[in-house]
Amino acid sequence: MRGVFVGRFQPPHFGHFSVVKWALGEGGFEEVIVVIGSAQESHTVRNPFTAGERFEMIVRGLREMGIDLRRVFIVPVSDIAMNHVWVRYLELLLPRFDAVISRNPLVVRLFREYGYRVVMPPLFNRGLYSATRLRELMLRGGDWKALVPRSVAEFIESIRGVERLREVALGD
Ligand code: NAP
Repeated sequence: MRGVFVGRFQPPHFGHFSVVKWALGEGGFEEVIVVIGSAQESHTVRNPFTAGERFEMIVRGLREMGIDLRRVFIVPVSDIAMNHVWVRYLELLLPRFDAVISRNPLVVRLFREYGYRVVMPPLFNRGLYSATRLRELMLRGGDWKALVPRSVAEFIESIRGVERLREVALGD
């Protein structure tokens, strides 16, 4: 059983890593394909990080959380303007998969229309672990580091990610 987990990961936080850990354990998946969605986006308030940066953060976080990287594929995927054929487009780009792991209503709907099994992961402290909340904490100088593995926080600091977010927010 190979499952697809799609997100923007702007940035990846403990909620996302917990979903992968859950999928490879209780969720019953042998392998998970982590799709870095909206790969073309970066340097905006909603999408501050590049696909490459998100890739690196995901690898660091998975390693730090003791998740077996041999069971995870990471694939950046740019958006397309046609939702109707998005799942076909994923079939073109990704290794074969059996199910989608998602709670996002649009993602769930599109995979169901193509006959895929949908597995909804538990919510891992959604009130705390949310990328929107995390970016707000970065903008206001709150404790965003508590929401990500230490190696992810170190990476964001090394690329001056908070400074970038604040600068692009000035133009919004
Ligand atoms: P996201 O905000 O990074 O979230 C990724 C997934 O993680 C979501 O299912 C989210 O659930 C889940 N999650 C986050 N925090 C969690 C927590 N604490 N506990 C449990 N689950 C948690 O990314 P997204 O915006 O949903 O990503 C969807 C991507 O698919 C986007 O890049 C979008 O552009 C792409 N897409 C593209 C097309 C197209 O190109 N036509 C069509 C559809 C989708 P919640 O949903 O509950 O937040």
